[in-house]
Amino acid sequence: MDDPALDDRIRKIGREIFSRVTESSRFSSPLARLDDAMMAWSMRNERRKSRLFRFVDCLPSLRSSQAIARHLREYLHISLPGFSPVVAAAATLGVSRMARKFIAADDLDHAVKTIAELRRKRLAFTVDLLGEAVVSESEADQFQRRYLELVELLPARLAGFAEDSLIDRDAAGAIPRANVSVKLSSLFSQFDPINPAGTSQAVLARLRPIIRMARKNGAMINLDMEQFAFKDLTLEIFKSVFTEDEFHDWPDAGIAIQAYLRCTLDDLKGLAEWSQRRGTPVWVRLVKGAYWDFETVVAAQNGWPVAVFIDKAQTDANFESAAAFLIENRHLLRPAIASHNVRSIAATLAHAQRCGAKPAEIEFQMLFGMADAVKTALVQMNHRVRVYAPVGRLLPGMAYLVRRLLENTSNESFLRAGFIDRVPEEQLLMSPILRKRRPAARPIPAFTNEPPVDFSLQSSRDDMARAIAAFSAQGRAEVPLLIAGQRIFTDQWIESINPSHKSRVVARCAGASAEHANQAVAAAKTAFAAWRDVPAEDRARLLDRVADILLRDRFELAAVEIAECAKPWREAHADIAEAIDFCRYYAWQMRQLASPAGADVPGERNRWLYESRGPAAVIAPWNFPLAILCGMAAAAVVAGNPVVLKPAEQSPLVAFHLARAYEEAGAPPGVVNYLPGVGEEVGPVLVEHPDVAIIAFTGSRAVGLSINHLASEPRDNQDHVKRVIVEMGGKNAIIIDEDADLDETVAGVVTSAFGYSGQKCSACSRAVVLTGVYDAFLARLIEAVASLKIAPAEDPGCRIGPVIDAEAHRRILAAVERGKRDARLAFAGDTGPLADEGYYIAPHVFADVPPSSPLATEEIFGPVLSVISARSLDDALSIADGVQYALTGGIFSRSPANIARARREFRVGNLYINRQITGALVGRQPFGGFKLSGGGTQAGGPDYLRHFLMPRCVTENTLRHGFAADAE
Ligand code: FAD
Repeated sequence: MDDPALDDRIRKIGREIFSRVTESSRFSSPLARLDDAMMAWSMRNERRKSRLFRFVDCLPSLRSSQAIARHLREYLHISLPGFSPVVAAAATLGVSRMARKFIAADDLDHAVKTIAELRRKRLAFTVDLLGEAVVSESEADQFQRRYLELVELLPARLAGFAEDSLIDRDAAGAIPRANVSVKLSSLFSQFDPINPAGTSQAVLARLRPIIRMARKNGAMINLDMEQFAFKDLTLEIFKSVFTEDEFHDWPDAGIAIQAYLRCTLDDLKGLAEWSQRRGTPVWVRLVKGAYWDFETVVAAQNGWPVAVFIDKAQTDANFESAAAFLIENRHLLRPAIASHNVRSIAATLAHAQRCGAKPAEIEFQMLFGMADAVKTALVQMNHRVRVYAPVGRLLPGMAYLVRRLLENTSNESFLRAGFIDRVPEEQLLMSPILRKRRPAARPIPAFTNEPPVDFSLQSSRDDMARAIAAFSAQGRAEVPLLIAGQRIFTDQWIESINPSHKSRVVARCAGASAEHANQAVAAAKTAFAAWRDVPAEDRARLLDRVADILLRDRFELAAVEIAECAKPWREAHADIAEAIDFCRYYAWQMRQLASPAGADVPGERNRWLYESRGPAAVIAPWNFPLAILCGMAAAAVVAGNPVVLKPAEQSPLVAFHLARAYEEAGAPPGVVNYLPGVGEEVGPVLVEHPDVAIIAFTGSRAVGLSINHLASEPRDNQDHVKRVIVEMGGKNAIIIDEDADLDETVAGVVTSAFGYSGQKCSACSRAVVLTGVYDAFLARLIEAVASLKIAPAEDPGCRIGPVIDAEAHRRILAAVERGKRDARLAFAGDTGPLADEGYYIAPHVFADVPPSSPLATEEIFGPVLSVISARSLDDALSIADGVQYALTGGIFSRSPANIARARREFRVGNLYINRQITGALVGRQPFGGFKLSGGGTQAGGPDYLRHFLMPRCVTENTLRHGFAADAE
C-alpha cells in the first residue's frame, strides 16, 4: 500500500468489523460449530477433502441405499456391511444439511419465507435460480419460464413487508425489493463466443421478455458473470439490450465484474463510458470470481495465456483498485461490493469515506450461508447488505454446493484463513501489495502443443471471416501434380466440390495416371540416396520450418478446409494445429532417436542405430485433410524416407498446400512428391511397386485390409519386406454408468457423436447406457441433438454441416433406412431448406438398438448414433468390446471402482474417462487402435517414428592383443 494513511484507516475499520464478528460468533449455534468442525476435519487431509467433495457431488444421482453405501466405501472407505440403509440415510441427511446451509430454498414459497427471515435480520437478497447445465433449447425455454415466473410473482409477494429504509432505499430513493440474478448461458443452449451474432440474437429473444416483466413489476435484474470465454459476449449483450429504446432509461439493471481478471479495470472503464452515453447508471457487482480453478486448467490445457491472476494477493489488490474506481464513478456505475473478505470490505469503506460517499450509495453483497457474522457486523454499522440466495432442487444444486465447499476450504480462502485456520487479524488485514509473491520459474517442456485459436477473441473471428472472404473471392484453383520438383498438368481433371454448396467447385486438380505414379516413385527413389544421409538434425529442421509455414498460413488453410471439406471453424483449426504438432513432435522424436544408444561391456562396444527404410507411399483420407496426411508424411520424411503423397480425391487442394509448404521450407526435389488421382487407379500401383518400402495408410477397413494383403506379396525386383502402417475405422462406444453426471455426459456424447457430422474414425457411434439412467439420458440427449444448428460450414454457428460428398450422403441415408428395421428411430432432424444446397444429413438417434444388429456393429461414418441399453457394467463392457473394432471408447461414471474396471477391461486404443472421445492431441494422447481398427501403431506417440525406421546394431570388439583400447 503506497498510502500509509489510507492503509491505517483500512486496518482500523477492519479491526472494528472483526470485533463485531467476534462478538456475534459467541452466540453461534452448536450445529454451526458442528459444521465448522466437519469442515476442519475434511481439510486436515487434501486427499480426503477431495474424495469427500466428489462423493457429495455424485450423491443426488444415486438411486438406492446400496448404491450410496457402495460409493461411500469407494470414496471414503466407510463400510458397515449389512447396514446399507442406515449408512445411506445418514450420508444423505448429512449432505442435505450441508446443502441447506448454502441453498436458500427449493421453490418460490420456501424462498419467500427465507427472504422474510433475511429481512428480519435487515438483509436484502438476490435470487439465483439453480439448475442443470442447459444442453438443449427446451431446457433454455424452461429456464426462461422460471425467471419469468420469478419476476412476475416475487414483487407482489414482497409488497406486504414493512419498509426497511436500510435495505429498501439507497441514496437516490427506493430500490426494488425483488432482485434476480440471471446467467446468460442458461438462456441459450448453444451459447458460444465463436458466434456472437447468433448467440446474442437467441439470448436476447429470451432475455427481453424477462426484463420487460421485471420492469413492469418493479424487480431488478443483475447478470452474473461466468467463465472468461463468455465475458466479452456477456458484456456486449448487457450493453446492447440496455441501450435499446425500451430499456435505455431503466436504472434497475446490473452486471457482475470479476477482479481476478487482469482486464477488470479496462472493462470497468468501458462500462463507465457506455453508462455515460446511456445517461442512466447501472449497478456493478464487483466479485473476485468463482471459476479460478477452471480458468487456470483451461489455459494450461490449451496453452493459452491465463486470464486470471495467479497470485491471490494480486486479485485482492485488483479488487481494491476496482472498488475505488467504482466509488469514484458511482454516478455512472453504482457499486455493489461482493466479498466476505474483511480486508476487501474495509478497503472499500475507507475509499468511500475518503471520497465522501454516503453509506447508502454503496451496497455490500455476500453469499447465503457464508460469513454470517460479517453480514451482521456490517448491518450493525448501518450498511446495506444483500444476500445472494440460490434457489432450486438439491440435484442441480450440488454443483453449486461443491463450488462453495471448495471455495471455503481452499488454501487461499479468506474464510478458511480467518474462521478455520484462525490466522491473526493483523495478518488478515495486511495490504495485498505487501503480500505479493514472486512467481516460480517454470521448466520449459521439450514439446508443447500448438494452442488452438481462441474464438472468444474478436481478432480471431475477424481473421477467420477475412480469410473465408478472401478465399471465395479467389475463384476456382487449378492444382498440378508435383514430381521431382516439377509441376505437371495432365489431361485428366478431378474436381473438388464444396460439400456445403454442391454447385461450387473449389478446385480443379490434375489427375495422376499409373505412369505418373511410377514417375513419382522413381523420383522418391532417386532422392532417397541422398536424403537418407542428410543429418537427422537437418531433416528435423525441415519439419520445424514446415510447421512455421503452416502456422503462418493457418487462417488461409482453415478457409480452404471449410470450403473443400466442410469442416466447421474450430474443427478446421484443430486439424491445422494437429498438423503443426505432428511436424514438431516428430522432429523432436527424431532428434532423440538420432543419438545411438547401446550397452557396452569391457572390450565390447555396442551401438544401436536407426536406418531409413526407403520410399514411402502416404495414402490419406479427407476427414482430417491436413493433419493425417501431414502426420504420416512428416514421420516418413524426418526418418529419411522420401514420400509420394496420395491425398483423397475430396481434399486435393488442402493437400497441395502441404506439398507447397515442403517446397518453401527447402525440401530437395523428389523428397515430397504430390500425386492426386483416383484412388483405384494410382493406389494399387503405389502399393505394389517394388521400390516402395513403406505404405502409410489411413482410411476405410476394406481398403486398409486390401493394402495389407497386396503389400505382403513380394514383386519381381523387390528386395525388402514392405512395412505397412494402417489405421482404419471404429465403432466406438461410450458407456454411461448409472451415477454419471448427465450434464457432462450429454454434452460429451453429442460432441463425440456429431462433431464434424460423425465423420471421424474416433467418433462415438454407440451409447451403451445402464438401465437405471437410460430414460433420463435418452430424453436429454434427444433434446440436445434437436438443438444443434445445421448450417454451411462457413457459418460460425454451424454445429452440423454437410457430409463429404454425394456418395457418402447416399450411403448414410441407406444405413438409416436399414437401421429402421433393427431399432426405433428416436430422433431424426430436418435439414430444411439446405437439403438441395449441399450434402446435408440431419442427426439421427436410434434407441433400443440390439447390440449385435448391423446398426450397432458396422461403421456408418455419419451423424447417426445408436443408443443401447445394458443391464449392468458387465453387460455394458461386453457390448462395448463386442465388435471387430478397438479404436476409441469412453465411460462416464463417478464410481472409482467402475472406472478402474473400465481402465482394465474396456480394451480400445484410446480410452477416455468422463470426457468426449474425440480430439486426441499429439504427444498427449497417442492415437490409434487395434483389432480391425489398425495395426497398433499410435500416431503422435513415442513409438510411431520407429515404424518408419529400420533398427540396426553395430558391435565392435575393442580388445587388441589383450589390451582394451578406445573404439575406432
Ligand atoms: P477471498 O477468500 O478473499 O477470495 C477468494 C477468491 O480469490 C477466489 O474465489 C478467487 O477468485 C481468487 N483466488 C483464489 N486463489 C487465487 C490465486 N492463487 N490467484 C489469484 N486469485 C485467486 N463469482 C463469479 O465468478 N460470477 C458471479 O457472477 C458471482 N456473483 C457473486 C455474487 C455475490 C453476491 C457474491 C458474494 C459472490 C459472487 N461470486 C461470483 C462469487 C465470488 O466470486 C466468490 O464468492 C469470491 O470469489 C469469494 O471472494 P471473497 O472476497 O469473499 O474471498
